[in-house]
Amino acid sequence: MSRLPFRDAAGCARIGIDLGGTKIAGVVLDAEGRIAVERRVATPIGDYRGTVAAVRDLVAALESEAGADGLSVGVGTPGSVSPSTGLIRNANSVCLNGQPLGRDLEAALQRPVRLANDADCLAVSEAADGAGADADSVFAVILGTGVGGGFVHRGQLLTGANGIAGEWGHNPLPWARDQSEWPGPVCWCGRTGCLETWLSGPALAADYRQRGGTECDARVIVERAGQGEALAQAVLADYEHRLARALAGIINVLDPAMIVLGGGLSQVSRFYEHLPALWTPFVFADRVVTGIRPAVHGDASGVRGAAWLW
Ligand SMILES: [Zn+2]
Repeated sequence: MSRLPFRDAAGCARIGIDLGGTKIAGVVLDAEGRIAVERRVATPIGDYRGTVAAVRDLVAALESEAGADGLSVGVGTPGSVSPSTGLIRNANSVCLNGQPLGRDLEAALQRPVRLANDADCLAVSEAADGAGADADSVFAVILGTGVGGGFVHRGQLLTGANGIAGEWGHNPLPWARDQSEWPGPVCWCGRTGCLETWLSGPALAADYRQRGGTECDARVIVERAGQGEALAQAVLADYEHRLARALAGIINVLDPAMIVLGGGLSQVSRFYEHLPALWTPFVFADRVVTGIRPAVHGDASGVRGAAWLW
């Protein structure tokens, strides 16, 4: 049971929409946070107007099936909303960029709509009734194709003055150990050595390949490490040392009670055994009590977190 203020006394159901690159998923969460209705449709790729219409129709279908109307709507989006312009930026579904998605959805749905990115939705979902439900503050991390983060403190998602709170993926890797870690790989954002270039799934695969491994994805490397392959084990050990340093930087600034890992690489069980000992030398405290757990809601974090934005 969450002790955070996510549940409303009125016991209202709420709608969460996860606007993905290939599909749009939607749920109605009941007042207890259970998924009461679930639907998904294909994303009209490259078609902004069509995307807004698809969300409108999906909400109508969810409400019809739930036998309710006027439910609150939260939407998880790629990229993020610029607080200065209200326009979407940095979305990999590029037809959304530069568009007033929030305003257009509010017009289409005739109600206020809250938007958040995927990492923020993960943080909200896990803080509401997931791995961080018993924690005062939760920093949630996505370790997948990209690297993102979000921060919830006492039930409130921190958005920030620039709308980028928690976005740690394009900070540099801290405490470089030697020349091999500096200046680091070139990132798509134009900088070098960003955490995303070390900690994403493709980054792990690239490190393995550059050290003599075969071309394969991160999941295969984790499997090979489990089977005792020396190179895979060495690459994974370096990966988790880098992750520990990166998280130590977060602990030193935000000091969350719980860190929750999501995304494909969050399923590597050794991280939860090793990370606390690895980050301790880099944390500016006499004793480090920060917890770390895997996300419990998996792929449903997008729709669940979006619903809990209200
Ligand atoms: Zn970058």
